[in-house]
Amino acid sequence: MFIAETFLSLQGEGMLAGVPSFFIRSSGCNLRCRWCDTPYTSWLPEGGRRPVAELVAEAVASRARYAVVTGGEPLLQRELGQLTGALRSAGLHVTVETAGTLDPEFDCDLLSLSPKTSNSDPPGRDRERHRRLRAELGPARRLLARFPEHQLKFVVEDADDLPEVLTLLEALGAAEPSRVLLMAQGRSAAEVAARAPAVAALCLEHGFRYTPRLHMDLFGGGRGV
Ligand code: SF4
Repeated sequence: MFIAETFLSLQGEGMLAGVPSFFIRSSGCNLRCRWCDTPYTSWLPEGGRRPVAELVAEAVASRARYAVVTGGEPLLQRELGQLTGALRSAGLHVTVETAGTLDPEFDCDLLSLSPKTSNSDPPGRDRERHRRLRAELGPARRLLARFPEHQLKFVVEDADDLPEVLTLLEALGAAEPSRVLLMAQGRSAAEVAARAPAVAALCLEHGFRYTPRLHMDLFGGGRGV
């Protein structure tokens, strides 16, 4: 697999925030989010090829009981099914984090789906392709049907984003508010903190969950956390 980094940390976001987890971050993404917080896996992908068996051995040696396969877009990796199967066979709980623009074969214990809205659209020549890919909802619908154990994470800047989030949820047939999490957009703890009160208010108004970004608060963000 094409891997940017592996590391042991606390899950920073979502329903498992705070849980010690071994992260396997693939490199390469088909989207180009304007605010991407891991540009070294998307805009300028870095990393190297690593065998699945080596990644699984490293995860087991970390003694974490939870593994997170993230990116980039891990669903682009042809060995994804092999990796998630081996991690689960080794007794780890596996979360797969994806933007959900494709739906290859793999398995997991928690699907973390983060559909992108127009606040992610980049300027320039990548814009049209990004918009077309994120607007294709067929793969995301199929993933949600395959994985009843899922969470939907939306990156939100302010209240203007909510109509689009609600439209997306309706189009995806995702009706359970307790599985919907709103996350403040920001590439630093300060940026996230500045938007957090408004995002929290939206959660209260709509019955969604607020997700912190603990890795930024605790470790300052960046690589390896
Ligand atoms: S989907 Fe994720 S990795 Fe890809 S560009 Fe967007 S934020 Fe970055």
